Parts: sequence; structure tokens; C-alpha cells
Amino acid sequence: MKEQIKRKDNLESELRESIRLENDKIYLEYQPIYDLNKNKVVAFEALARMQSSQYGRVAPDEFIQIAEEKHLIISLSRLILKKAAKFSADLEKAGFGEVKISVNMSGLDIIQEDFTNKVIEIINNAGIKAENIKIEITESVLLNNFEIINSKLAKLKEAGITTALDDFGTGYSSFYRLTELNIDLIKIDKYFINKITKGTENNIVAAAIIDLSHSLGLTVVAEGVETESQRDYLIEKKCDYIQGYLFSRPLPEKEAVSLLKSAD
Ligand code: C2E
Ligand code: CA
Ligand code: CA
Repeated sequence: MKEQIKRKDNLESELRESIRLENDKIYLEYQPIYDLNKNKVVAFEALARMQSSQYGRVAPDEFIQIAEEKHLIISLSRLILKKAAKFSADLEKAGFGEVKISVNMSGLDIIQEDFTNKVIEIINNAGIKAENIKIEITESVLLNNFEIINSKLAKLKEAGITTALDDFGTGYSSFYRLTELNIDLIKIDKYFINKITKGTENNIVAAAIIDLSHSLGLTVVAEGVETESQRDYLIEKKCDYIQGYLFSRPLPEKEAVSLLKSAD
């Protein structure tokens, strides 16, 4: 108990410091998102990492939650978006200007009055195109603030930023309001991808989400794809994009660029 509180306190001050100094204790890794039709990497998801001086590598689930509890998330998310936008600018310089970067935002971020303006400001400062940034929000954030968040999503879309609904199908279900929602992309949660096994009926949910999304004109990403049989099934069901260890783990910047170069 005591140890846990101490760890939280220490991580909080480390987070505060690295937000203030914008140092590399918080850095990003990039997991490729692979287009099954074009057979190439079309995007990366930016995943936040923390290298604590006291505890070594800390999982994002832990430090993001601390940031949310301690009211640091808004500044942390801005720092993360800034780093992602900088990487996007680097990709463009390296000749990969068509590859997009997807950034996770917390519900607390998106309900801020100036959210859209801040996002646009960071994108402009980095000198990149708005179309090169995607914003991911989890389905669960819609639970309490559907109307507000939906209007923010509309603003992002107006500005040319792609929006994605993450962890789709878990917890609170926005299934019945999907037609109203201002999103471009659905990410099927890995829970349903895990269930894909040959010759069983467990595949049904993933297949249904793909069909439903397509009938609404949305692009579908399958997350957590780990096996070839899952991939083959997703190809058969006309899923658009896949992301998962089968194709690649999240990579440091340099390796992400090398991956693009090697496929070129
Ligand atoms: P998420 O947004 O659902 O991200 C996908 C997670 O699945 C990542 O975990 C990724 O490393 C992992 N993953 C990718 N492929 C596979 C696979 O084939 N199998 C399995 N088992 N896992 C796979 P990670 O990096 O530990 O991130 C965990 C969560 O932390 C993220 O889930 C997201 O909710 C949150 N997170 C990460 N970075 C950020 C950030 O910059 N901002 C915010 N607000 N949240 C973040
Ligand atoms: Ca995500
Ligand atoms: Ca997810």
C-alpha cells in the first residue's frame, strides 16, 4: 500500500518534470498499420513510453492513468502530439509524406474547450498537413459526453484530421449511435481478434463489425493481430487494415523509418 502510494508520487513528479523540460523520459514508439489491399504500411500508431529514472520502463496504462488522476494529462497529451507531429514532419522529409500518424487522446483532452484549436496549432507549428494526423479516442469516453465529444470530432474532421474510434466493441457500446458519430475509422478491439480461430463461431463479432462499418462507409482496422490464420480470416472478410505483433511490434523512430525504406 505504502509502496504503491510512493511509486505513484514519484512517477507523478517525474511526469511533471518531463512535461516541463520536454525531455526524452517520455518518448514514442510507432506500430505500423498495414493496408491489406495496397500491401503496404499506410500509418503508424504512436504509443507513449516512459523511461523512469527510478523504476525503468513504466507501462502506458500506468502512467497515463496517473497523468489523468493528477491533472497532468492535458499537458502530457500535448507533448505527445508535438512529438508525433515532429515525427510526421521527419517522415515527410524522408519521402514518406503519405504515411499517417495516429495519436491516442484521452476523454479529458477532447472535452477541453480549446481542444481542436490546440491540435491545429501543434500541427501548424510542425509544418505538417492536418490529413497526416489521426486522433484515436476510445469508445468508452462516449459514455458520459456523447454530444460534446461528437461535436469535437466534427470539428476535427472539418479541419481535415482523421478520427478513429478505438477499442470498438468493448464496454459501453456506441453500436446503436454509430450512424451519428463523426468518425472515419473503427478499430476492432483485440479481444475479438483473439477469438478468431478456424472453424468456430467465435469469429462472428469481428465479421459483423467489419460489415457494419463498411455499410456506414467507415474504414476498419483490426488490432492485436498475432497469427496468420487471423490475418487470412480478416483478408477474407475484407478488413481494410491490420495492426499487431504478426506484422510488427511498436518500433523506435529509426526502426520505423527503416521499415518504410526496406519496403520501398
Ligand atoms: P491501445 O490504444 O489500444 O494500443 C494498442 C496496445 O496494444 C498497445 O499497448 C500495443 O503495444 C498493443 N499491441 C499491439 N499489437 C499487439 C498484439 O498483436 N498483441 C497484443 N497482445 N498487444 C498488441 P501499449 O503500448 O502498452 O499501450 C496500452 C494502452 O495505453 C493503449 O492501448 C492506450 O490506451 C494507452 N496509450 C498508449 N499511448 C498513449 C498515449 O500517447 N496517449 C494516451 N492517452 N493513451 C496511450
Ligand atoms: Ca489506440
Ligand atoms: Ca485499442
